[in-house]
Amino acid sequence: MSLTISESVSIWDRTLKQLSQNIDKVTLDTFFAESYIHSVSGSEIVVVVTSTLASTVIQSKYAKEIDDIIYELTHFKYIIKYITSAQAKELVDTSKEESSEFFADAKIDPRYTFENFVVGPSNREAYQAAVIAAREPGKFYNPVLIYGDSGLGKTHLLHAIGNSIKSDNPSSKVLYVKAHDFLDEYVKYIKSDRDGIGLVAWFKNSVDVLLVDDVQFLASKTKTEEMFFSIYNYLHSAGKQVVITADRHPSTLNGLDDRLVTRFISGLPVSVTKPEKAVCESILKKLIDEKGMSLSNFDPEVINYFATRFGGSVRELEGAFAKLVFYSQNFTNSKHIDLQIAIESVKGLTSSVSPEESLNEERIISCVADYYSLTPNQITGSSRIANIALARHIAMYLIRTMLDTPFTKMGAKFGGKDHSTVMTAVSKIEEGLKTDEQLKIAVKELKKRLNG
Ligand code: ADP
Ligand code: MG
Repeated sequence: MSLTISESVSIWDRTLKQLSQNIDKVTLDTFFAESYIHSVSGSEIVVVVTSTLASTVIQSKYAKEIDDIIYELTHFKYIIKYITSAQAKELVDTSKEESSEFFADAKIDPRYTFENFVVGPSNREAYQAAVIAAREPGKFYNPVLIYGDSGLGKTHLLHAIGNSIKSDNPSSKVLYVKAHDFLDEYVKYIKSDRDGIGLVAWFKNSVDVLLVDDVQFLASKTKTEEMFFSIYNYLHSAGKQVVITADRHPSTLNGLDDRLVTRFISGLPVSVTKPEKAVCESILKKLIDEKGMSLSNFDPEVINYFATRFGGSVRELEGAFAKLVFYSQNFTNSKHIDLQIAIESVKGLTSSVSPEESLNEERIISCVADYYSLTPNQITGSSRIANIALARHIAMYLIRTMLDTPFTKMGAKFGGKDHSTVMTAVSKIEEGLKTDEQLKIAVKELKKRLNG
């Protein structure tokens, strides 16, 4: 009989709970503290305890009772084997070939540090949260969640945390993993036909700080989410720092298990937003410096132009700058870079920022649609599915409050709805904003994106 990881975790929790009815707290804490199920294979369950003494005491005094409890819980006659944490470590070490397979490619990138991260109002909180997590892992906020659009420095901050911890304490075990790779890892794992516990145990032995990038990829992957949940709980309860990033606030991520959403936002959620112009300018100056070029060779207008046109994301800004360098080195003879060269170099590059683009109904509808992973037609349509209806009401609220569009005109935009329907929707959101924290977060984030 095989058990899922969360089943195993919960079985051991429940076993200890039942035992606590017959054993006094001191005995329980002394011999069962930090015990956990290491693996379940076939009809054998391996339980890890802290010492040989604990293992002897448990086997001689409590084994029968534990057997009975587990039988009651699983209706299966498992043989329960007790090993010490040292033996468990050996198991991990001797199966190095297998264990080192896990996240073998997960590396902390030395290029991304706190020192070369430019801080401004758009990312200050995220930066500070990252620094706290790096300085005192697990002590203050756990987990730290950094969320926001692509290209705004989330991955950079994760690596910076890793690099900082490693440089303070080279022996600390920091794992950076993309949620997407986690998925692959899980599939590899299932293929090797094991029960899932081994991976959890591996985490327990091999990770002090877990950095997980782009957790939105976990959404709708039920089995992976379940495994991640168990690993997360293990690490969190052991006081190990977890830092995660997502491309949006998890509460608005369709298909992410509620239990994970709750966990993710329970520590310190901080957002990164579009960088201010001054931040973009500083980043450009840093890039010029890193290339060994001199700022004096750039017309100030060039910096201004790039910061304005490509300020929608730092990634975009870096891409445009790389084109400029390439162009100026290959197609011009002068060292001096003026605005004309700059404009020429990025011809054809599209940018996500268009300052001329004014706020209108369509933009609000498509922004809300994008935020909730829906289509604009779903927003303006008539579906009563809860999340679609909510997104529609939010779009109506934003149009009304940001553009002051008359209700009748709005009705027409939303597939010919009656003005009273629109009014009701708008007041629903107004009411909701008084008490509903998640709604507040969503509306705040949407306004930020629209005001960009
Ligand atoms: P995200 O993970 O949010 O999509 P990244 O961390 O990959 O974004 O950032 C994209 C690129 O922009 C990286 O090369 C990163 O070093 C750079 N970058 C982002 N924000 C900053 C910043 N504030 N200062 C310096 N470089 C930054
Ligand atoms: Mg990233």
